Amino acid sequence: MMHITEFQALIHRTYHERDAKRGLETDMLWLMEEVGELAEAIRKRDRKGAEEEFADVLAWLVTAASISGIDIEKAALAKYGKGCPRCGSIPCSCPDHPAPKSWP
Ligand SMILES: [Zn+2]
Repeated sequence: MMHITEFQALIHRTYHERDAKRGLETDMLWLMEEVGELAEAIRKRDRKGAEEEFADVLAWLVTAASISGIDIEKAALAKYGKGCPRCGSIPCSCPDHPAPKSWP
């Protein structure tokens, strides 16, 4: 088992020099591309593909955090570690926010 902080450090050791040179904006484009590929794999019910795309999305997400100088595990726990940031409950007891059916 690996903590997200350890995974972020692993990806940092593996790719950081090149990723940092490319810059945050370019890395964010790669992240968005991988999110698109994940959505496609899910839409096509391609489980094996989705597993790989989840891995790619997480790798690019921790890369963006590293370039920003942010420990993503620390940030996530600070926000969600004590439950829902809005209602403070686990599980969340906020009312559901359905998507609007049409523009006003
Ligand atoms: Zn809530």
